[in-house]
Amino acid sequence: MTALQPDNTSDPPARLIARLEAIVGRGNVLHSKADRFVYGYDASVFRGRPAKAVALPGSTGEVAELVRLANSEGLAFVARGAGTGINGGALPQEDLLVIELSRMNRILEVDPDNRLVVVEPGVVNQDLKLFLAKRGFGFSYVPDPGSQVVSTIGGNVGNNAGGMHCLKYGVTSNHIAGLEVVLPGGEIIEVGGKTPDRPGMDLTGFFVGSEGTLGIVTRIIARILPLPEAVLTQLALFPDLDSAARAVSGIMAAGILPAALELLDRRSMTLVDRAVHIGFPDAAGSALIIELDGVREGLEIEVGRVREICTANDAVEIQTAETPEAADRIWLARRAAYGAMARISPTIYIADGCVPRNRLSEAIGRAIEICARKGLEVINLAHAGDGNLHPLIPYDQTIPGEKEKVIEAARELLAMCVEMGGTITGEHGIGVEKQEEMTLLFNGRELDAMFSLKLAFDPADRCNPRKIFPVAMFDRLQLSGP
Ligand SMILES: Cc1cc2nc3c(=O)[nH]c(=O)nc-3n(C[C@H](O)[C@H](O)[C@H](O)COP(=O)(O)OP(=O)(O)OC[C@H]3O[C@@H](n4cnc5c(N)ncnc54)[C@H](O)[C@@H]3O)c2cc1C
Repeated sequence: MTALQPDNTSDPPARLIARLEAIVGRGNVLHSKADRFVYGYDASVFRGRPAKAVALPGSTGEVAELVRLANSEGLAFVARGAGTGINGGALPQEDLLVIELSRMNRILEVDPDNRLVVVEPGVVNQDLKLFLAKRGFGFSYVPDPGSQVVSTIGGNVGNNAGGMHCLKYGVTSNHIAGLEVVLPGGEIIEVGGKTPDRPGMDLTGFFVGSEGTLGIVTRIIARILPLPEAVLTQLALFPDLDSAARAVSGIMAAGILPAALELLDRRSMTLVDRAVHIGFPDAAGSALIIELDGVREGLEIEVGRVREICTANDAVEIQTAETPEAADRIWLARRAAYGAMARISPTIYIADGCVPRNRLSEAIGRAIEICARKGLEVINLAHAGDGNLHPLIPYDQTIPGEKEKVIEAARELLAMCVEMGGTITGEHGIGVEKQEEMTLLFNGRELDAMFSLKLAFDPADRCNPRKIFPVAMFDRLQLSGP
């Protein structure tokens, strides 16, 4: 762990603490130096300022009161879920109030007739899935970010999280029917709802993925889907990345839509093997995990077609899981990947970009070149069906200049993705990590249009300030005044 950074923020006045405690209760306000310091961290490589104070509300009313109090004190505020974001989105950029939603973790309603659940934002993604499974509803909430055992549905909504099954089922925004939101002025509104095709502007779509910059989500109406009748999982091993990438394109071009299509490179296979002993053969240079689901009848035929396509693209071995345990074992190869990498390095930069699916292998090759030029190692995982690459760059943050070198490499990777016709994030969002890269994707008029929407909701930029947009846009705002 690095040495504690100097805390330049002033201690919160006792009067502020007393007012916060009056809203959320004693014990639900954190304000020691150590507590304030840790809220300057999330799962990203970036560091925020220590929080002015941290409040843990227990209800929508308390969130609204906190926001009104922050406004009356001239304080900005930021919503925080589990802090697993990789883009620095939950980090305080100034001396502000952190509103942490972990106490608001109730599953309020399961409505199988309408295929909906209503939850508070602090519900952990996997807890919702386990709850639905245990109660035998026959439905599940599908989005499954790699962080699902920890990350919250509120944070998933904030970042419009993706996951391994988003190829077929879509990202979080496809699964959200409505929200209750506390606006930056403290007003409570509802957007969307249980009935589909509501008139008016699609504010639900607007709020999902806005990274907590437009308000604080306090209740979520989410869609649940029936569990598929059958699931078949395959592991295909290829001599190199190129053949695996060709198989991915072949599967998609054949009109097959797998639930998941995940790629591992040789280095990640080696690390996973060391950690959980999958037993990948030495001849394999890359691995594809392919999951097909749906009605039982016909699924075997699709599995056969996938096998043919992989064979035609030089697969050296193809396994089809015959039992749920065997399928779990195949998935372990992917699920254990981040943990396996943590064994070789205490710090890893998880990059996230997208390219057209048929250019995935080329993009990974170029990512390796970019990192090699900087003397950095890179390990590659990809949600291959979406063209979403995750080059993982291990580094030692105690070596001066190392982190900066990694950040520079990641910026080059994003520029490469855009140049190849892709985008700067597949699922992790923008936060502080990629705010300057927004100019690679959007011109000034487009950024101004988006920024004017942000300012319509939050004219003084108090709600998760200085995020998503290039810093110069906020500087301009300060010069001209709200
Ligand atoms: C090992 C690992 C694997 C990961 N895998 C994936 C993956 O496969 N796919 C993926 O998409 N992401 C992944 N992530 C990134 C991250 O887990 C997701 O973005 C997740 O959605 C963040 O949830 P959280 O509860 O931790 O939110 P936080 O990190 O606390 O917050 C994320 C953002 O949402 C905002 N926010 C939080 N709560 C609210 C709220 N109630 N109202 C409004 N805004 C809010 C915050 O202000 C912040 O901008 C991974 C992260 C790790 C560490």
